[in-house]
Amino acid sequence: MSSYFKNTPDRKGFFGEYGGAMLPPPLVPHFKEIEDAYDRLSKSGEFLNDLKYIRKHFQGRPTPISYLRNLSKTSGGAQIYAKREDLNHTGAHKLNHCMAEALLAKHMGKTKLIAETGAGQHGVALATAAAYFGMECEIHMGEVDMKKEHPNVVRMKLLGATVVPVGEGAKTLKEAVDSAFGSYMGQADTALFGIGSVVGPHPFPKMVRDFQKIVGTEAREQFIDMTGELPDMVAACVGGGSNAMGLFSGFIDDEDVSLHGVEPLGTSENLGDHAATITFGEDGDIHAFRTLVLKDADGNPAPVNTIASGLDYPGVGPEHAHLHKIGRVNYTTATDKEALDAFYQLSSKEGIIPALESAHVVAFATREAKNHPGCSILINLSGRGDKDLDFVVDTYGFEK
Ligand SMILES: *Cc1c(COP(=O)(O)O)cnc(C)c1O
Repeated sequence: MSSYFKNTPDRKGFFGEYGGAMLPPPLVPHFKEIEDAYDRLSKSGEFLNDLKYIRKHFQGRPTPISYLRNLSKTSGGAQIYAKREDLNHTGAHKLNHCMAEALLAKHMGKTKLIAETGAGQHGVALATAAAYFGMECEIHMGEVDMKKEHPNVVRMKLLGATVVPVGEGAKTLKEAVDSAFGSYMGQADTALFGIGSVVGPHPFPKMVRDFQKIVGTEAREQFIDMTGELPDMVAACVGGGSNAMGLFSGFIDDEDVSLHGVEPLGTSENLGDHAATITFGEDGDIHAFRTLVLKDADGNPAPVNTIASGLDYPGVGPEHAHLHKIGRVNYTTATDKEALDAFYQLSSKEGIIPALESAHVVAFATREAKNHPGCSILINLSGRGDKDLDFVVDTYGFEK
């Protein structure tokens, strides 16, 4: 095992000073049960073989790496490559951890999966996993998001999930998290909370990272196969940070590979107009763990808003806060406008329509390519843009 992963996180779930589990007392034994089960199953040949089978025969792994020839040419300088997580079943990297969480729940004897969803992508992935394993699924979603992301509500229902509308407060992601957590508290004996990124209380940031590691493991081998060497730069967009941790995992011990996380800068640097938590946040607690948080004047999690709802979270995975602090990963931003330009460019130049989340890292690659002639940049194309088509075309038309 690599040196980094051996000690990170520590036994209490801390990545340096970030992470941990600040749980309401009734949930402490349930999280201990999850931690013990994961410790045992992560070393079980049967569990790992089941996961391998699912990834190959249901999810469509391994996903390829594509060399983006035309984009590299027009960006002028570096060679750009993309790990194609958009080719996963359901269209994003999320199934990597959702299938594994469901498999864990199954092994623990649970019969139900509960979660919140913002744009609906996590809800769809978890509902897919629940259907595969014949489990019940309960997804909490803000009423505002339900209207905005109606096709995903339809998908979840078709997949057999119960969608619980949340009408409190701003009726979006934060209220959905509170609602889902409340419901889980009442049924933690029979249900597992399926957290959607490398966030939440220990052991989720570690577990979800481990489940996403497959992205980096495949990518490292594939990249060497293709080019004979390691990439110079590896980059991914960061919301909670799961697709980024997945890809970074493959290269974290390669000191010569620089790692870059791209946060959404939205429409301006003013609080409320972006979700660049690492860039502008401060130490704090959110959803029962310690990390960097975007705070309002009262010290509460601030409102966030960008073109990519999958990146709209006023916190970030504790491991990213740690990797920022120790300087192993460089965190930077891309604006809504840069992401949109990249969305159109990748579509028309490469024949790949990216998710607006992933478009942020495409923007980073085209921007950095100019500054790094002769280098190679490997990005994580975390998802495909089908879900964003109507919004983009209705709002901005067919080209910029
Ligand atoms: C959900 C989502 C993200 C953001 O989640 P991370 O945990 O930061 O990876 C990024 N890209 C796509 C396509 C998503 O669906």
